[in-house]
Amino acid sequence: MPQTTPSPFRRGHCPSAGTPMESGDGLLSRVNLLGGRLDVNQLIDLADWAEESGAPTLEITSRGKLQVRGLSAQSETLFTRELVATGLARETAAAEAARHVICSVAADFDPKALHDPYAIAQQLDTQLSTTPALWQLPNKFLICIDGGGGDLADKNADIRVDAISSAKGIAYRIALAGSRQSAVLLGYCQVQSCIDVIIFLVTTFLSINEQRKDKATRIKQLLNDDTFALFKTSVSDLLINVKPINTERTSAKLLGQQAGWFGFAPPFGVMSSDTARGLARLATAHGHHKFRVSPEKVLLIPGGHSDLSAPLETLGMIVTNGDPRLSLVACPGAPACLSGSTATRSLALTLAEHIPDLFDGELRTHFSGCPKGCANPQASPITIVAQQGNFDVIVNDRATPLNENKRVAQNLSTEELAMRLSTLSNTLKQARRDDESLSECIARLDIEQLKIELNT
Ligand code: SF4
Repeated sequence: MPQTTPSPFRRGHCPSAGTPMESGDGLLSRVNLLGGRLDVNQLIDLADWAEESGAPTLEITSRGKLQVRGLSAQSETLFTRELVATGLARETAAAEAARHVICSVAADFDPKALHDPYAIAQQLDTQLSTTPALWQLPNKFLICIDGGGGDLADKNADIRVDAISSAKGIAYRIALAGSRQSAVLLGYCQVQSCIDVIIFLVTTFLSINEQRKDKATRIKQLLNDDTFALFKTSVSDLLINVKPINTERTSAKLLGQQAGWFGFAPPFGVMSSDTARGLARLATAHGHHKFRVSPEKVLLIPGGHSDLSAPLETLGMIVTNGDPRLSLVACPGAPACLSGSTATRSLALTLAEHIPDLFDGELRTHFSGCPKGCANPQASPITIVAQQGNFDVIVNDRATPLNENKRVAQNLSTEELAMRLSTLSNTLKQARRDDESLSECIARLDIEQLKIELNT
């Protein structure tokens, strides 16, 4: 696969097959599984190739891709060659990097979904990866096509199209720069207009961006009243008047036995190659040959039943929503990443085991091996940042906080960290109202009071 980027190993971009990214433990590459489609043989192949080429792990990313790490320049080339040969990547690196689409992964068997957007996503994916004029899209740009089942409701995308029902039938709601809840509504279009609408919006973004000195990487960076009007005008001929029925759709529950699938999650979204092969064998033994990989870092077995639960737990998988490990978000930390000073994931697991009231499966706690915050660039209710072997605690902000006042405890040893988190757990237990979650509770706590409680 010829390289078309100025440097093949750039930092700070989204890696893809043929355009890897440098990390502390070598190069990272990602396998794009459109619609989360992955069969048992592909999973075994990927587990084998990861083991032969780099670190023996597969990591699910927040876009539902499978990430392989620890590659050398040579092994990355061979890995990419395997992906292209088996249809898991495009022929050229530039075409592969132009695949910006995610879509609902379960809409063809989810009874709550309104429409299966996979065919739309496929056509759009092909159009983006075969039209060089569209390859200038920044590689973090995201187009999300949600069939209405709720599996992508929380995904922040540049362009969101969400299936809605109306008296006139199924249509798509078009919105910019956000999740289903927060994206700015542009209007509605017919199912058959979706691809044209998205391409017009993409083209408008590129043309606005071309005129800017500071190039935007996401639509939200350039969205204002004037640009919103330009986006709207670009698709006005395709917008229709519909009144959506029942737009209050909540995020889908994916884990465990659901109507249409059995869902499970590897802790931190990471499977060793051995575990991945074990999962493929288990699915096959139960008569299943396909998985769906969700951007929520959950794997679905279409048609799977609760008899999968115990053997999946034996393989270390999470199968219930209250599992403390669901609270944990962590980068690999040391020793996999040279920037890290702590083995973040093992620390997170130990703390979750010792303070189960705090790690209730809902309250997300981000363990970051350094202030870079790779595992979650957004704010988390709690972030633990390692620095030279000690830890800072940050609430409701990022690993490098936008507001330094949110750094509520600093320079803690491991023992001190465990004690402060126990104190925080007790504080939340006392302050929590009957009708609120732990993350809602921590969001309304007085920061100055919290600092006093944690530091005395
Ligand atoms: S956040 Fe984690 S993975 Fe990222 S550079 Fe720091 S230690 Fe490495």
